[in-house]
Amino acid sequence: GAAAQPDYLRGLNPEQAEAVQAIDGPVLVLAGAGTGKTRVLTTRIAHILNLGLAYPSQIFAVTFTNKAAREMKERIALLVGGAVEGMPWLGTFHSIGVKFLRRHAELVGLRSDFTILDTDDVVRLIKQLIQAEGIDDKRWPARQFASMIDGWKNKGLAPADIPEGDSRAFANGKGRALFAAYQARLQTLNACDFGDLLCHPIRMFRNHPDVLKEYQRKFRFLLVDEYQDTNTAQYMLLRLLAQRPAAEDGDTGRRENAPNICCVGDDDQSIYGWRGAEVENILRFDRDFPGAKVVRLERNYRSSEHILGAAGHLISHNEGRLGKTLFTDRRDPDDDRVQVHAAWDSEEEARAVGEEIEQLQRRDVRLNDMAILVRASFQMREFEERFVTLGLNYRVIGGPRFYERQEIRDAMAYFRVVCQPADDLAFGRIVNVPKRGLGEASVRLLHDHARADDKPMLAAAQDLVGTDELKPRARKSLSDVTEQFARWQGLLETMPGHELAEVILEESGYTEMWQNDRSADAPSRLENLKELIETISGFESLRAFLEHVALVMDVDTNADMDAVSLMTLHSAKGLEFDTVFLPGWEEGLFPHQRALDEGGRSGLEEERRLAYVGLTRAKRRCHIWFVSNRRIHGLWQSTIPSRFLDELPEDHVEVAETDGQYGGYASYGRGQSGGPYGASRFDRAEPFAGNYQSPGWRRAQQNATSATRENWGTRSGHAVERVAYGESGPR
Ligand code: ATP
Ligand code: MG
Repeated sequence: GAAAQPDYLRGLNPEQAEAVQAIDGPVLVLAGAGTGKTRVLTTRIAHILNLGLAYPSQIFAVTFTNKAAREMKERIALLVGGAVEGMPWLGTFHSIGVKFLRRHAELVGLRSDFTILDTDDVVRLIKQLIQAEGIDDKRWPARQFASMIDGWKNKGLAPADIPEGDSRAFANGKGRALFAAYQARLQTLNACDFGDLLCHPIRMFRNHPDVLKEYQRKFRFLLVDEYQDTNTAQYMLLRLLAQRPAAEDGDTGRRENAPNICCVGDDDQSIYGWRGAEVENILRFDRDFPGAKVVRLERNYRSSEHILGAAGHLISHNEGRLGKTLFTDRRDPDDDRVQVHAAWDSEEEARAVGEEIEQLQRRDVRLNDMAILVRASFQMREFEERFVTLGLNYRVIGGPRFYERQEIRDAMAYFRVVCQPADDLAFGRIVNVPKRGLGEASVRLLHDHARADDKPMLAAAQDLVGTDELKPRARKSLSDVTEQFARWQGLLETMPGHELAEVILEESGYTEMWQNDRSADAPSRLENLKELIETISGFESLRAFLEHVALVMDVDTNADMDAVSLMTLHSAKGLEFDTVFLPGWEEGLFPHQRALDEGGRSGLEEERRLAYVGLTRAKRRCHIWFVSNRRIHGLWQSTIPSRFLDELPEDHVEVAETDGQYGGYASYGRGQSGGPYGASRFDRAEPFAGNYQSPGWRRAQQNATSATRENWGTRSGHAVERVAYGESGPR
């Protein structure tokens, strides 16, 4: 009865409670943003644990980011009273894939200490293969092939499976052979790429039904968040695990035929199509899992009426939606409409956003409750600079990371070789860093030896120093290096990770190299190395640390400080903030030109979903910005406001009057006609009536405007105007 209901159920609405309690058979929760889908998943896990239907280790739960996984664990612990010790199978598809592979590496021809390569490694490896084949890597760039491989792996394809046409699309038909050579090379290196973290487990389960069965039994419950963005490989893995094993004698326990799989998602938030996600997966759920219970949630608990109204109207411009109702009870007369602001250029945009943030701060809004969501990561730099100037704390989530810096990559290459001596990519990176007289010729010789003997380079190096093929100096250095690595490897089990790391960087001369470097950024590189060692001290071993880095793309080193979040729209999925800033709503940037060029109508619709995701992250306040001039790839371009602005409903939006330094930049033309979208409220064909002083500015503005006008007359598409001002910019 209701009296016996546990606390965690009481806060749910009836549909949510239904989804939480439907624990026999497949369930799909298909609902709009902010309706509590993630909350349903979390509560469902708590409910399962609370009823004792499974141990934490028998629950397979997938989130979209590592951060989301951490948060979910914390929430579950709160709901069930802190008694959850570890949920080993709660994570991203990739982190779960690694776990399968470490346990069963030998079944796919790897050893359990395999390395996970990042994009940089992959590209370098492919480049070697392309060159070895005598293919012109200018004409057929390694990076392009890397993304083709990624695409195949997203579909779960091995070299033998790829369609003939795909194979022809690279290097005149060499695609398949190169892909096969790449996989063989990975095997030799005892390495895998990100795609393999899914493809290997799939192959392993297919080829070893006994192993699969073990996991099918183990996982009593499967749960997936953001189901609309699963790709084919992820879907295959899920399907394999969700099949129920046939009953066997002496086998007790629950034995339903229908799997206990619960997926939640929103077709309107499918934003990873460009990376192989298949929104189809969510649309055919009830065919894949017959008898599925489909639950719809309609009440939004996150956003104000205005934000929801704006987002709903925008997304209604997409065709082919399932269509969902969304309502909110949050009707506060004090709630602001969605604000649209104009700025002259990105610098002014950043300055104005900074001002807005400081104003909110004065009204006691915490920085933690504010986020800036950009379409493209290059937009971040301007904000970062502004925040540094203002002394505002900020954190970049999922952006260019600490671990991608040169000195960090070098240092980690050393660590990788120590932990995994077959890691040739890492070895190749640092064999002559710092310089030790092992020039290109020596390295090539080493490569050839490694290849001929099918050995890792480090092992080949040991052989090579026994011959007289190298000049004495090179031979001596190579001999020293191999001895050092042997020594460090010997310390691996006994010395704490961070101490060993320090020893390696000292003894190799790497730290010294930067100490002797006179360039301006050398000091900060040394600081970064210190920071790196500091970080390692938080891990039980150097190995554990390397694994962490390979996996955790959204590390947040200082989670405690109050700070504005800065991230791309793509990485904002599932999150929510009191106040959200959405800069850069201009044609060509958002919607992004590449999405329009490559994806046509569906590309545009994915961009619109991205806009929907952005708007629906906001609880109370949402500020949209666009600029008249933006510097893209070093060129100033005059821009047109995003068509998405025109797709916002008048009732819920207002054009902000900003009392910034330049007075009236908000009084730019309203209600002008002649834009490509008819009478546009955001048409900036009429120059701003602001009081910018510089005559140069006025001329540039007029030039930009007339060029824009001419083009509007002849164009039916929405391509961004490219008016070059040259390097110096309009001012
Ligand atoms: P998204 O599609 O953006 O991922 P979602 O559907 O997963 O959104 P949640 O993040 O689970 O939505 O919930 C949105 C907000 O609403 C959260 O702050 C959550 O705590 C709150 N919420 C959800 N359900 C309820 C409820 N029944 N009562 C009160 N608050 C709720
Ligand atoms: Mg969610």
